[in-house]
Amino acid sequence: MPDLRENNLRLNRREIKQKKTVLESKPVTLDVTLTSECNLRCRMCCVRKKSWEVSRKTLDEVRELFPYISCTTWQGGEAFLYPGFRRLLDEIHENHNHIVQTIYTNALLIDRNWMEEIIKGPKTLFLSIDSVVPDLYERIRVGASFKTLLENLDLINKYRSGAHHEIKLYINSVIMRSNFREMPGIIDFAAEHGVSKVEFSPVEGDLKEENIFRYPDRESSDFIARMRPELEAMAAEKGVEVFNRLPYEGMLCDKDLRENTGEGLFCTLPWTFLFILAGGLVIPHGSCKKPVGDVNRQGILEIWNGAPMQEYRRRLAEGNFRDWCGENLNWMDII
Ligand code: SF4
Repeated sequence: MPDLRENNLRLNRREIKQKKTVLESKPVTLDVTLTSECNLRCRMCCVRKKSWEVSRKTLDEVRELFPYISCTTWQGGEAFLYPGFRRLLDEIHENHNHIVQTIYTNALLIDRNWMEEIIKGPKTLFLSIDSVVPDLYERIRVGASFKTLLENLDLINKYRSGAHHEIKLYINSVIMRSNFREMPGIIDFAAEHGVSKVEFSPVEGDLKEENIFRYPDRESSDFIARMRPELEAMAAEKGVEVFNRLPYEGMLCDKDLRENTGEGLFCTLPWTFLFILAGGLVIPHGSCKKPVGDVNRQGILEIWNGAPMQEYRRRLAEGNFRDWCGENLNWMDII
C-alpha cells in the first residue's frame, strides 16, 4: 500500500515551493472543535456560549482524510466530553498511528482509563493553566480544583514515563488583568512538572475588568513589555520553550514567527492547515482572521481549495497580505 501520508507531504512541500493557490495535496493538519460542552465556566471563555457538536458528516470527512494527514488537533469546550472521542482516538491508534495528535484540555477529566488510551500513540497535551496560585486558578477557571489538577498532572507524568510513544506536555496560559504578574511563576511550574513549552495568549472578548489588551493600563503594559525578553531568558535557563503571543507594537500576526515560514513566504499555514471552529466556520489556522468556509454548508475539501483559501495563498505569495492578516482579530471574535 503506498504511503499516502508521505506522498501527500512531498506533494504539499512541492506545491508550497511553487506557490500554487489550488492544491492537489490535501491538508497536513486538521484542527477540529469537537464540542462546546465543558466541565468548567471560565471567566473569559467565548466557546461555551456557542452550542456546538461536530456533525457526523463533517467527522466522516475528517476520518476519510486520516490516511493523508500528519497531525490533528482536538479542541473543545473540553474534548474529553465529546461522546465519540474514545472511538475517534481508537480508530487513529489502530489504523493511522502515524498521526501526531494534539489535545487541548483542562486536564481535570483525565483519569487512568483516559491515560491508557492516550499513551497508545504520539500526543501533545496542551493544558489550560492560567495561574499556579490555587485561589486565583479556581477563580478564573470557575468549577475547577487546583488539587485535582496537581493530582492529574502527577498521573499524566507517571503514564508518560512508561509510554512507548512521546507524550509532550505544553501549557497554554490566557493572560489577563488578574494574572499578568504570574507569567514567571507559570514557567517555574512548567519546569517542575515536566512541561516543555508554555504559550502565553491574550485574553479575548469584552470583559472590561480583565481585558488589559483592549482596555490597557500602565502597570500591566509596562510589566508585560519588561517581561518579554526576561521570560525568554528565564524559560531557556529552565529548559522550557516559551511562545509569547501577547500583542506588541508592530505585531503583524500572532503566529509563531519561527515556524510555518519559508520559501520566501512569511507564512505557509494556508497551504497546510484547516481549523474548524465551534459553530462550523473554518479558518486556515488559529492565528488567521478571515473565515474561509463553513462546514454546515460545504465539504472540507471544497473549502480547502475554495476562493477564500486561494486568496490567502495568493496574497502571501505576492507579499500583499498585511491588510488581510494584520487585523486585530482572534478566532474567538469570529465564532
Ligand atoms: S493571518 Fe496570515 S500570517 Fe497569520 S497565520 Fe493566518 S495566513 Fe499566516
